[in-house]
Amino acid sequence: MQRYKHIVVLGAGSAGFLAGLAFQQVIPDGKVTILRSPKIPVIGVGESTTPAMPLFLHKSLKIDALEFARRVDPVWKMGNRFYFGDSGRKYFDYSFQPAMEHVAPELRKNIMYYLLEGDMHNFCLGSGTMEQHRSPFFKGPDGKLTELNAFGYHIDNQKFLAYVEQLALERGIEIKEADVCDVRQAPNGDITHLIFEGGGEIEADFYADCSGFRGQLIKKVYDVPYVSYSDNLYCDRAVIGSWDRDHPIEPFTTSISMKHGWCWNIELQDRITRGYVYSSAFCSEDDAIAELKAMTPQIGDDLRAIGFPSGRLERHWVNNVVAIGNSSGFVEPIEATALMVVTDQINYASKILLDSYGDVPDMMREKECERVRVIWDDIRDFIVAHYKFNKHFDTPFWKQCRNDCSLGNATEFYEYYKMAGPSTLGKRYICPDSVFGFEGYMNVFLGLKAETDHPPRMMEQDWRDWELYTARMKKNALQALTTEQAIEILSGDNPPGVIGEGKDLA
Ligand SMILES: Cc1cc2nc3c(=O)[nH]c(=O)nc-3n(C[C@H](O)[C@H](O)[C@H](O)COP(=O)(O)OP(=O)(O)OC[C@H]3O[C@@H](n4cnc5c(N)ncnc54)[C@H](O)[C@@H]3O)c2cc1C
Repeated sequence: MQRYKHIVVLGAGSAGFLAGLAFQQVIPDGKVTILRSPKIPVIGVGESTTPAMPLFLHKSLKIDALEFARRVDPVWKMGNRFYFGDSGRKYFDYSFQPAMEHVAPELRKNIMYYLLEGDMHNFCLGSGTMEQHRSPFFKGPDGKLTELNAFGYHIDNQKFLAYVEQLALERGIEIKEADVCDVRQAPNGDITHLIFEGGGEIEADFYADCSGFRGQLIKKVYDVPYVSYSDNLYCDRAVIGSWDRDHPIEPFTTSISMKHGWCWNIELQDRITRGYVYSSAFCSEDDAIAELKAMTPQIGDDLRAIGFPSGRLERHWVNNVVAIGNSSGFVEPIEATALMVVTDQINYASKILLDSYGDVPDMMREKECERVRVIWDDIRDFIVAHYKFNKHFDTPFWKQCRNDCSLGNATEFYEYYKMAGPSTLGKRYICPDSVFGFEGYMNVFLGLKAETDHPPRMMEQDWRDWELYTARMKKNALQALTTEQAIEILSGDNPPGVIGEGKDLA
């Protein structure tokens, strides 16, 4: 029997709703309440995701992929395109399809050897879909759709929240407006009640703190130490705007180097959002807006500015309170990892509550805190690599990134790559414990042309083989539907095939 009968989720942003929906599945005979402040709005960003998001929505939360496509109007994201690196390469792609270690039938060596000197396009089917502006959907000879299983979503935050709110209500979750200003605690430190401003309270067995950066419970009640990443990652603000769609939908997030940081393009169905992430130590808000507007004359006047801390809590779970989302940590928006961590934290918290029947052993909680610490630090190191090896600008900001940023736990891995080049043996010998894995790091090192003393020595024949291989990837990718075609088919009366059952298409 589950000990928990009532779980309260404090916060109704993306983290709060996703946590509420998952915890409802853990205590189907209990009750979940999501609390939100009528005064504190959601942060309203978090529109780019990794493949973890569709997996979580459709497998963990059992949300029908077709219904989601129709109600939330997502754009399928095949990876990230970076206008980063050195001036010899305009951009490089980070495809969500793992392919780097693959030795294709046409090739003599693994794909990485061909990427350092050549273009980073069409190097797998996923990368082909990015270059050919295609969705993950393929229409078979029988007219049925199949989908490549390596995609994330771009989601309009407002539409997404409206959808998950509706779903939460349909699944019996209570949503309550209240400003939490205090708590009552048991002698062992567990929170027993949340106290509301202006009177009223709520009692529960377990609490999820999804209150955003303020960390209403985890920081204010438990005062958990915060580990800042600001000595390695200097960006701390973003100016964000959008404009109506003026080009066909791109199936990727674009990240573009700027003088004092970088900016994203997130492709929504009807518009594009662009945010300039910059360091306030190097650039004023006015200067950031001026640089953003100069490159984006079409951007609307409804620009908004957000500050953010980069770092994590020392522990995200204390007593009967687990922090999920921005309350537990945030690195920065590049690579769109925040919702990936949210879904991961929720999956693990759900499993812990389920397996322990709500009597969570101390060691389970400690191990989970340790696991999440490793994930945040891993994301920090991976993101630092994007800054450390980018040579697009020579401004003081970028010089400091190149000279002073430390790769942390990935230092040895880079040193190995520097000496040995893109050999897959690196994976066996010295791969950091990373959610991005060997391939993720190699994609970034190769894309940015991080220095190596052991560059590939390819032969003429290798390049002829590479041309054959990439031509095949391009041809296969061209079989996929464009995003516009996919939207039209999926919004029709009888879309062919089942979606949400992605396949590992070679
Ligand atoms: C510039 C920027 C860009 C980002 N881009 C991405 C991205 O592309 N992809 C991605 O995955 N992530 C991104 N993120 C992270 C993103 O913000 C989060 O992943 C996501 O929005 C989750 O936010 P949240 O639910 O934790 O908090 P919020 O959205 O801030 O929600 C907090 C909730 O808590 C409630 N609350 C707070 N205090 C109280 C109180 N005392 N009483 C009652 N209710 C309270 C509020 O009312 C609100 O409902 C970005 C972040 C920033 C700063």
